Amino acid sequence: MSDLLERLRERGWRLTAQRRVVAEVLDGDHVHYTADEVHARAVERLPEISRATVYNTLGELVSIGEVVEVSTDGRAKRYDPNAHHAHQHLICSRCGTIRDVHPLGDPLSDLPDAERFGFVVSQVEVTYRGLCPGCHS
Ligand SMILES: [Zn+2]
Ligand SMILES: [Zn+2]
Repeated sequence: MSDLLERLRERGWRLTAQRRVVAEVLDGDHVHYTADEVHARAVERLPEISRATVYNTLGELVSIGEVVEVSTDGRAKRYDPNAHHAHQHLICSRCGTIRDVHPLGDPLSDLPDAERFGFVVSQVEVTYRGLCPGCHS
């Protein structure tokens, strides 16, 4: 559970009506919306919210570390409120459904020293691809 709104309240982030709507749209599990999808959903709750406000708010949430940007397939960036729990992604190559998943091993320690080429690795992204139940049946 991302409980984004609760985290923002705890850190004293100024919750204007517009920021609140963006945070509400992003609240929940397995949420990975593009900026346009966040805007479309925000407009349902607050018709006057502009695209620019949504983009700015997303940028701020990313810069304070409460939302992470996820790049998939070279398509539009997605915004993920599950920023505090290391996870990887499972993506349906047909419909684009994305799930947060937690591999049993640690993907960083799974990389042998011989293949680190002297890098200090700070981040690992693993993407599992396939067809979701709705697409393979
Ligand atoms: Zn699918
Ligand atoms: Zn995620």
